[in-house]
Amino acid sequence: MNIATQAAQIGLEWDTRTGAVTVPIYQTATFRHPGLGQSTGYDYSRSGNPTRQALEEGIARLEGGGRGFAYSSGMAAIANLLLLFKRGDHLIVTEDLYGGTYRLFEKVFGQYDLSFTYVDTSDTAAVAAAIRPETKALFVESLTNPLLKIADIAALSALCRQHGLLHIVDNTFLTPYLLRPFELGADITVYSATKYLAGHNDTVSGLVVVQDPALAERVYFHQNSVGAVLGPQDSWLTIRGMKTLSVRLDRQQENAGRIARWLAAHPLVRKVHYPGLESHPGHAILKRQARGFGAMIAFEVTEPALVEQLLLKTRLISFAESLGGVETLITFPEVQTHADIEPAIRARLGINNVLLRLSVGIEDADDLIADLAQAFEG
Ligand SMILES: *Cc1c(COP(=O)(O)O)cnc(C)c1O
Repeated sequence: MNIATQAAQIGLEWDTRTGAVTVPIYQTATFRHPGLGQSTGYDYSRSGNPTRQALEEGIARLEGGGRGFAYSSGMAAIANLLLLFKRGDHLIVTEDLYGGTYRLFEKVFGQYDLSFTYVDTSDTAAVAAAIRPETKALFVESLTNPLLKIADIAALSALCRQHGLLHIVDNTFLTPYLLRPFELGADITVYSATKYLAGHNDTVSGLVVVQDPALAERVYFHQNSVGAVLGPQDSWLTIRGMKTLSVRLDRQQENAGRIARWLAAHPLVRKVHYPGLESHPGHAILKRQARGFGAMIAFEVTEPALVEQLLLKTRLISFAESLGGVETLITFPEVQTHADIEPAIRARLGINNVLLRLSVGIEDADDLIADLAQAFEG
């Protein structure tokens, strides 16, 4: 079945008692037992809640298999996955990583003697060279933040299999609608569902899907033990958002393609990073492995003064963090999203004082372009 169909119908079959078309919000902490030693399948909402379960089953279906888990945020989801590792373990990680993930790895898990090597995961040979005897996993952003570098997920999965590493893909920027990591050999996917999956800038949530049932059982044990679960209201909102994933992303990508080409021709723009442009390194890989190029654009303006001008003078486009929602947002990664990454590393990655990031929404592309045009004029 097509993923657009699966997404639209998440939760549809849930309420057989009334036939409600959407899954009810089971706003309950606990469940009555039918008898001694008996359970309805639900005992306590940290361990399992029907609204959350509809979401967890829904994301697994979109992913093409495995078992889903919903968390109170993308960071909570990633933190839960890190509990699969123990003292002395080493992970290889995408270097231009979401700033919050970098902070979690270095400043939280670093204290527990996990170590991380950051490499350019669009370079499969560089990943291979970073493997050590104690390496246990590769954590890759399928499309990186903010520079939109593209990893060859199939080649990296093959490398992981060869070395017995877990391949974890943060697929937040592409979603299963555009890229299905399991079909390319990955073991675990993780999402900040706050972004495209929920899609309306109205809720914070995180999702994980695990292929292997035994590994999924360990993840469930950690989910229930730590308890950073997604509440029923937010589970419902995430499902509601996911139902329109395909139409939103189709429109967002179309808008992003037009805006990227417009920016590339603008005299005050020095460089545009958008995977849909043929000049983008990795364009061919994404064209082969994915269904589209996403709707994130990073671009460099010709001088630092233009950064503040664009952030403050855009009217339709809001200066805000986050991404993936229906509203177009602009941000300044060096200061806003990647401040926790050391300046020397940022400089090497190209996260500099003229780089801006756009999350393109579903508004009319001409309106968005006109807004950028007037902001450039000052
Ligand atoms: C936002 C984001 C996260 C963190 O998710 P939250 O829902 O904000 O906790 C992780 N990875 C990527 C790629 C993100 O964009």
